[in-house]
Amino acid sequence: MTRGAVWMLVLVLFFCGSGVFFLAQAAPPLSTADEIRAGDALFVLFRQSQGFADTAESKAIEAYLQKVGDKVAQNAQRKLPYKFRLDPHPGFRSAVAYPGGQIVVGGGVLALMTHEDELAVVLGHEIEHIDLNQCAQRVAEAMKKGHLSPEQFDKLSIEDFGNPYGKEGELAADREGVRLVVAAGYSPHAAVELLEMFQFLSRDAKPAPPRADSPSLEERILQVKDEIKQRGWDDTKAEQPLALP
Ligand SMILES: [Zn+2]
Repeated sequence: MTRGAVWMLVLVLFFCGSGVFFLAQAAPPLSTADEIRAGDALFVLFRQSQGFADTAESKAIEAYLQKVGDKVAQNAQRKLPYKFRLDPHPGFRSAVAYPGGQIVVGGGVLALMTHEDELAVVLGHEIEHIDLNQCAQRVAEAMKKGHLSPEQFDKLSIEDFGNPYGKEGELAADREGVRLVVAAGYSPHAAVELLEMFQFLSRDAKPAPPRADSPSLEERILQVKDEIKQRGWDDTKAEQPLALP
């Protein structure tokens, strides 16, 4: 992949995982059982496309992701069997959410972190794409568009789930995600830290024109700072070191 292609992937994947905000509180558009099966099928497709397999090391990292993710998901509205996976590729500097509770974290984004709190922020954002029914909504749309029955989830496209969920959808995932992070005892400042790091990493990139389907990093940082102020959260709280095995 060229450097440009890698960045495209980074940006697309960093914004993945939510739905349409005004539909977020609506009832899930498909049964929870079907949603979980769709997510399982999408994870299989994703793993095939990326060509990674389980190793003893990846299993150990996944156990850590699961420990942190379960803590963050504790206060989510939907009780789902969340599964936190690792795609070890160093160029995958983001994470992606699939319906029903499948969340894949890239080896590249883990390599950029120093605190467990930052990992909690990434997982919180992806959990909310699922919790707000944004992923389920996308499955329903793909089924309608492709005339797919629940027996044909292997025909879903992983690309559909890598695209942002709209400006409002992404901001909602940030907002609700940080609430989960704070409820789990982590520092909300980690969200600012993480977004500012992405800003720093893209400092040399050609300025991208504003997108209608996702917020800019500036907008996301402003929102987190506003939330910290409005909710009176303590953003000076000491962060936990990242404890990758
Ligand atoms: Zn997202």
